[in-house]
Amino acid sequence: MYDVIVVGAGPAGSMTSYMIASTGYSVLMIEKKKEIGFPIQCGEGITQFCLQYNKLPEGNWIKWKVKGVKSVLPSGYYFYTEEPGYSIDRAGFDKWLAERAIERGAELVNAKAKAIEGKAGKWKIFTNEGEYKGRIVIGADGPSSNIARWRGLLMERYYLLAYQYKFDAKYMKQMDDKWFSIYWHEKFRGGYGWVFPRGEEYNVGVGGVNASVSQLKSFCKSIGIDIDKKKEMNKGVIPFAYKFVSRAQEGIMIVGDAACMTNPTSGGGIQAALASGRISAKKAIKSLEEENFSITLEYDREIRKTPYLHPAHLKCARYLQKWKNEDWLFLGSILHGKKFTDLTLWRSFLAGLKHPSYLLRAREMLTIRKAMKINQKYGW
Ligand SMILES: Cc1cc2nc3c(=O)[nH]c(=O)nc-3n(C[C@H](O)[C@H](O)[C@H](O)COP(=O)(O)OP(=O)(O)OC[C@H]3O[C@@H](n4cnc5c(N)ncnc54)[C@H](O)[C@@H]3O)c2cc1C
Repeated sequence: MYDVIVVGAGPAGSMTSYMIASTGYSVLMIEKKKEIGFPIQCGEGITQFCLQYNKLPEGNWIKWKVKGVKSVLPSGYYFYTEEPGYSIDRAGFDKWLAERAIERGAELVNAKAKAIEGKAGKWKIFTNEGEYKGRIVIGADGPSSNIARWRGLLMERYYLLAYQYKFDAKYMKQMDDKWFSIYWHEKFRGGYGWVFPRGEEYNVGVGGVNASVSQLKSFCKSIGIDIDKKKEMNKGVIPFAYKFVSRAQEGIMIVGDAACMTNPTSGGGIQAALASGRISAKKAIKSLEEENFSITLEYDREIRKTPYLHPAHLKCARYLQKWKNEDWLFLGSILHGKKFTDLTLWRSFLAGLKHPSYLLRAREMLTIRKAMKINQKYGW
């Protein structure tokens, strides 16, 4: 019988396992991928804040440093959001996180979880490699969120789609390598196209409600990239607006993408995965110390108070899904060439006087500003 079974060894699962194993409790990580981190399903961008906040040192999985995000709007308007970030080797990062947990004593088994049975203190996880018993179970199983579903915690799932090509930098000469470039346009319906520099390579992708391979191809074409030069493609789903009864039960906690912690506007989820893993680990340790599994219920309350689940994010994403190019142009007319922090209320008001319909949408503008400010403070 393990003290804790963690299903999934992505960033959320490995962070949780590392923290619990560090206190001496026994941890089993169950991971279905033969090689942790592969296939990569990620733009591989993180903020510096993500590492600092989660107390992670810089590792050799950092490939490139950027100053922040450059938002490119229709008609060539652009503005900057200064927030230092990194392009990482995502597979290397995931492996490093898992190895850290193993060094602290966590065990790793390559198996696919298929069902869960039991109650707090006496869980059984059934896998294709046999069954495992644990006192607490953490669902860190990514967007499929199986543990949450099997336990009746997840009511509704809705995904964004994302597709990405990798290119050698020699084919991307005209691209800015100091910023993560994000391209906003009504065709992405609140999603966006991205160009992330990573030294010798670039990641170029599209994500959103209607993202597709053909959208990725036409995005590449629109910014002058020859798709015949692509090295590889990766794709995946991004959880968006999952509805939960709760993200916890006695002896069960759901973390990371499985808990829909992903930022609905940016699609970034690594930081929130690590942060939720840390919170769940603290609750698991306290439960084990006090032999009281109802402590895990506190996780749900605590996680809902984090900046990652602030209601402004989802509202912002829903507004942007409806934005037309003229809305982006309005923002561009205020911010072109400037920093996002220059979007002061006064400047917005003056611009609104020229376009009175936006004054009527002041609430929407303020929500978007709020969500962006949270992103800037806590990373995305
Ligand atoms: C194309 C794309 C681009 C993205 N770009 C970025 C980005 O640039 N920056 C960013 O911050 N975020 C990005 N994201 C989101 C980010 O990848 C996720 O938020 C992050 O991986 C969440 O970590 P996690 O540990 O919760 O889940 P995951 O990384 O998905 O890990 C879950 C693990 O559980 C395992 N698993 C699932 N089911 C089972 C089972 N039944 N049994 C055993 N194991 C199981 C999986 O194999 C996986 O290893 C992107 C996502 C996509 C799809």
